[in-house]
Amino acid sequence: MSVSISRRGQLLPASAIRKLIPYADLAKSNGKKVLHLNIGQPDIPTPPAFWDAVRSYSESVLAYSPSTGMSVFIDALQEYYAAWNLEFAPADLIATFGGSEALIMAMMIVGDPGDQIIIPEPFYTNYLCFARMAAVDVTPVVTDVRDGYRLPPYEELRKLVTPKTRAIIVNTPNNPTGHVVSREEMAAVAKLALEHDLFVISDEVYREFIFDGEQHVSPMDFPELRDRVILVDSISKVFSSCGARVGCIASKNKQVMNSALRIAQGRLCVPTLEQIAAAAAYRARTEYLPPVVKEYQVRRDIVWEGLQGISGVRCPRASGAFYSQTELPVDNAEKFIIWMLTSFDVDGVTVMLAPGDGFYATPGTGGREARIAYVLEGPKLRQAINILKNGLEVYRELL
Ligand code: PMP
Repeated sequence: MSVSISRRGQLLPASAIRKLIPYADLAKSNGKKVLHLNIGQPDIPTPPAFWDAVRSYSESVLAYSPSTGMSVFIDALQEYYAAWNLEFAPADLIATFGGSEALIMAMMIVGDPGDQIIIPEPFYTNYLCFARMAAVDVTPVVTDVRDGYRLPPYEELRKLVTPKTRAIIVNTPNNPTGHVVSREEMAAVAKLALEHDLFVISDEVYREFIFDGEQHVSPMDFPELRDRVILVDSISKVFSSCGARVGCIASKNKQVMNSALRIAQGRLCVPTLEQIAAAAAYRARTEYLPPVVKEYQVRRDIVWEGLQGISGVRCPRASGAFYSQTELPVDNAEKFIIWMLTSFDVDGVTVMLAPGDGFYATPGTGGREARIAYVLEGPKLRQAINILKNGLEVYRELL
């Protein structure tokens, strides 16, 4: 007799972003320096107000907090969204373990096992893991580097809808493409949701990082959609506090929030101290965020301009987040990334990118792409792009 795990357990995907780490570790143990453009861990300091709140915490017991979130945090969220013209009542908001838990809750709530969720791809790789946890199926729809990874028009989205389709996920600004969804693109999503009775799960964890004077568009901006939008948010990226594990799920749909509340009650609460600090970060946002956004825009320019100087590389000049999904002039980007780690360096330094196919669910797509995260300071980014350029030149000679 032997024990065996569930099909769900067996089907959980490995992280596409982390799978090449052993090659990076090996490169480092051989004395190479690796510039990491592969992970979305911001290097920008967390707001001082966050740390001040942690330091001034004076309770003698670190107790559970309310399952829905501490009032200090929910109040801060309410005030924050009001500044974005989004009116949420406290009952429309629940604190979560980052955007991740909010996404898991949303997927569990909108679909039963075997139901389908449309997701434009490339998409944040962990959506696949969350969908498998919730036992819902992902219906991917490809967007194209040549078209700036714009969302497909309504006519194309409509073809994907089946009797089992329950929702569409929109992530703007996007990981991995950096694309900022326009009002026109969002209108197609709105039409799809209304005509086919779907939820819209709106992942807005990069909502603050928008450049070139573009505007963030949320499906919540469409009044006719408000009862079917589930907004997912997080302090991880906006306040450079990925380790705090604080975010929220927000919806005007009472049934959704009732179900989310039950999940929230089951898992008791999200970190108490970090919610207090997160509330302080939200309150400090008007001083903290403008220089951060400016810094990311400078980095976007360095990366985009640098990539334009490499022949055969294709990437849009995306206006948001801190990523660029880039097509490389190689047949297999993953092989190239491994080669960079194992066989190439410039004066002992090499670069690590994330293989692009990990951001797709459609087999055979994204194989020539890599995601570049600009989470290094300008001079290091310039160095990294230069190493990439040299690496590509040498690699193409070898082919
Ligand atoms: N959504 C997107 C698009 C992300 O990139 C991430 C983190 N990389 C998350 C959600 C989840 O992040 P967290 O749980 O830290 O909020």
